[in-house]
Amino acid sequence: MEYTVLGSTGLRVSRLCFGTLTISPLQRDFNIKRGAALLKSAYDMGVTFFDTAEIYGTYPHLKEAFSRIDDVVISTKSYSYDERTAKKSLDKALLELGRDYIDVFMLHEQESRHTLRGHSSAIEYFLKKKQEGVIRAFGVSTHFAACILAAAKHDEIDVVHPIYNKRGLGVADGSRLDMENAVRIAHQAGKGVFAMKPLGGGHLCSDISEAFSYVIESEYVHSVAVGMQNLREIEDNCAYFSGKRDIAFELEENKKELMIHDWCTCCASCVDVCKSGVLRVVNNKIEIDNERCIFCGYCGAVCPNFAIKVI
Ligand code: SF4
Ligand code: SF4
Repeated sequence: MEYTVLGSTGLRVSRLCFGTLTISPLQRDFNIKRGAALLKSAYDMGVTFFDTAEIYGTYPHLKEAFSRIDDVVISTKSYSYDERTAKKSLDKALLELGRDYIDVFMLHEQESRHTLRGHSSAIEYFLKKKQEGVIRAFGVSTHFAACILAAAKHDEIDVVHPIYNKRGLGVADGSRLDMENAVRIAHQAGKGVFAMKPLGGGHLCSDISEAFSYVIESEYVHSVAVGMQNLREIEDNCAYFSGKRDIAFELEENKKELMIHDWCTCCASCVDVCKSGVLRVVNNKIEIDNERCIFCGYCGAVCPNFAIKVI
């Protein structure tokens, strides 16, 4: 496994980061035992960096896998917007992960310097907790190049977690080149950069090597979060991230689909939450633009009727 230091945080991480969205209730919905076993297998193969989020519901899986293991780096994120919600999210993460500190805590889905300013009291709380040693690094996750540029100028932000893939899929405010440029600037400002969605949510699975190569060969990306759902995927990805770039990936099992059940009431909550502009209401029905969907499953998290899901 290839390892690196995450920018100026000093945190040593595997270049392959296990993104736990795939095993979460928003996607494959693995029970704690099954999910923890998969996480532990990845650790045994050299993965030391694991990404989660409050919304994923995978804290129990990580706790089960790593309660007796110290040398993992866990990154999480929440939608906290003020001191009260920041405290609530951090306390929840500490409790449910069973840890005394969080390696990387991020604000989830930030968009620009304006959204950062709007979250200033949450940011102040996290920075206070960083000074107390409860958080080791603070960061932002985003689909917006503008947010990465804002973070580059923000001294207190240590880590950025951008959507980053060879077609720029899911970049909400521009092109692949815009995101490349922003990531370069953030890297040069000393930020730790770990990319998400290198396979564009599954759209780039026809040539996984090429898709990974685009991200991993970037001198501005320290680590790459990849969702994994079975041992074969973990083995292949670990081999690739250990330098065996000619690995033959299994393709079929990566296919995902967004499904809306008949009992959808067309309340449009999912439309509002989708940052990729995939969903719209047409004739009192939800229409899906499958080409743009990156299968994050966030729409499912807000559906009051459990009517929309990534399968
Ligand atoms: S949130 Fe659920 S019920 Fe509302 S429009 Fe979306 S799928 Fe339908
Ligand atoms: S439609 Fe749902 S799964 Fe697809 S990108 Fe939007 S929020 Fe994510």
